[in-house]
Amino acid sequence: MPSTLSSFLPEAQTLLQQIFGYDEFRGFQADVIEQVVQGGDALVLMPTGGGKSLCYQLPALIREGTGVVVSPLIALMQDQVDALRELGVKAAFLNSTQDWRTARDVEDAFVAGQLDLLYVAPERLLTDRCLNLLQQGRVALFAIDEAHCVSQWGHDFRPEYLGLSMLAERWPDVPRIALTATATAQTRDEIAQRLALEQCRHFVASFDRPNILYRIVEKQEVKRQLLDFIRTEHEGDCGIVYCASRARCEDLAAYLSNHGIQALPYHAGLSTQLRAENQSRFLREDGVVMVATIAFGMGIDKPDVRFVAHVDLPKSIEGYYQETGRAGRDGLPSTAWMAYGLQDVAQHRRMIDESQGDERFRRRQVAQLDAMLSLCETVACRRQHLLEYFDQPIEPCGHCDNCLSPPESWDGTEAAQKVLSAVYRLWRERGQRFGAGHIIDILRGKLTDRVQQHDHQSLSVFNIGTDLSDQAWRGVLRQLLARGLLTVDHEGYGTLVLTEESRAVLKGEVVLRLRRAAPSAKRAATRSRG
Ligand code: ADP
Ligand code: ZN
Repeated sequence: MPSTLSSFLPEAQTLLQQIFGYDEFRGFQADVIEQVVQGGDALVLMPTGGGKSLCYQLPALIREGTGVVVSPLIALMQDQVDALRELGVKAAFLNSTQDWRTARDVEDAFVAGQLDLLYVAPERLLTDRCLNLLQQGRVALFAIDEAHCVSQWGHDFRPEYLGLSMLAERWPDVPRIALTATATAQTRDEIAQRLALEQCRHFVASFDRPNILYRIVEKQEVKRQLLDFIRTEHEGDCGIVYCASRARCEDLAAYLSNHGIQALPYHAGLSTQLRAENQSRFLREDGVVMVATIAFGMGIDKPDVRFVAHVDLPKSIEGYYQETGRAGRDGLPSTAWMAYGLQDVAQHRRMIDESQGDERFRRRQVAQLDAMLSLCETVACRRQHLLEYFDQPIEPCGHCDNCLSPPESWDGTEAAQKVLSAVYRLWRERGQRFGAGHIIDILRGKLTDRVQQHDHQSLSVFNIGTDLSDQAWRGVLRQLLARGLLTVDHEGYGTLVLTEESRAVLKGEVVLRLRRAAPSAKRAATRSRG
């Protein structure tokens, strides 16, 4: 029977202890539970690991009927249901991995009112068969997990989620609770609008993760840098390394394994069986490092992941924050480490240029990339920068890389002008475009084969950049790309072209403060090893 306000708390508290074994609610769990138990809708934004599941699991136990949980993570339903059954909760799932006999048993149990929770994939839920089934039993609530999947511009968009707004029409009296770890105001509005939750109460948790130490290093020999990072700071720890491609996952996993680190690959190109096997080893064994694409991690609940490393630049801060948020769910110190370089910027710019989306889609991608780049290039506190992005201002954290050793900035106007003039002259005088490496060779006056082949030693910009090292020039180019003062020609292979904004720099109308390259990771690591 629906509880009244006065009877709600003691009952919820009892269930919390007896079933879940926790002493108290975390954050605003109790408020959400109260709202839903009383039949109200809720939109819950909590970082990964914040404890979202309880917000619908408990109300489902208290309210009459079955809590229907919409989740896109078919691969994890079995685990979730197993975990609940172990606690004595009557849970089941319906998805495409089952045979029809098992599915029919679950359906019968639902109609007979024997289930507390039923997990369903969105595409399954929206079938006539499933909707009719739900009409035959009693639904206590609808929980829409990973609700940001409804956001068309987000990185996890699932078209089936768009159909879920019909739940409001078909079951107007059943409370709905949407949950996500993606927090920008924009995504929040989009979820509310597309899931017909405009009127509902919003519960927005703090996204601050004080136990995560953020660090972004300049990419050089990334494999070696990663190995050094793990060895010096996280030897024997469990961690996740995110890569952009399957091939890269394989390559890195093999490299780490060859160097004595227990690393396993995880990506969509592996068989379902091997993926499940690797995932289960990661969850159950100690000290496994998962080298994965972003296919891995949504819904993974492992408290002692000590580090999350990115060897390729993520597409957005939201994705990055969600991925790094998988570290340190137990509240103990953990590291979010990323290596980022010139190639990352060039590659992302090119990918956006080549993408098939319309203008709006492209603009959105550019904005997401720019936000990501500004996090990489900032000289201010990383955590402060991240939380600002989520509209949650904090003081400088005191333990990210920038807080610990504030990066120097320098007047890079003249250096920038040299780079831009080189690009300009090559195009104006020779009709040629080249990539970053060759531009740097020209500036540094290197008589490489390619320089001689094109007679680039006769350009006026040849040898005008002997004052800076290769690495320093890469830093300048990277920052020019990051700020859109230079871009990549999508018809060439990463060749550089000027932008509208380049002109002001060439004319000396702006002063450019650049971030000074940090000491190379290798040197830093050697130093800290003493
Ligand atoms: P999310 O879905 O937000 O990522 P989960 O619901 O999976 O987070 O919860 C994360 C972890 O926190 C789980 O191990 C869960 O058992 C634990 N947890 C949730 N609520 C509480 C609580 N009130 N007290 C202690 N632990 C909790
Ligand atoms: Zn900081």
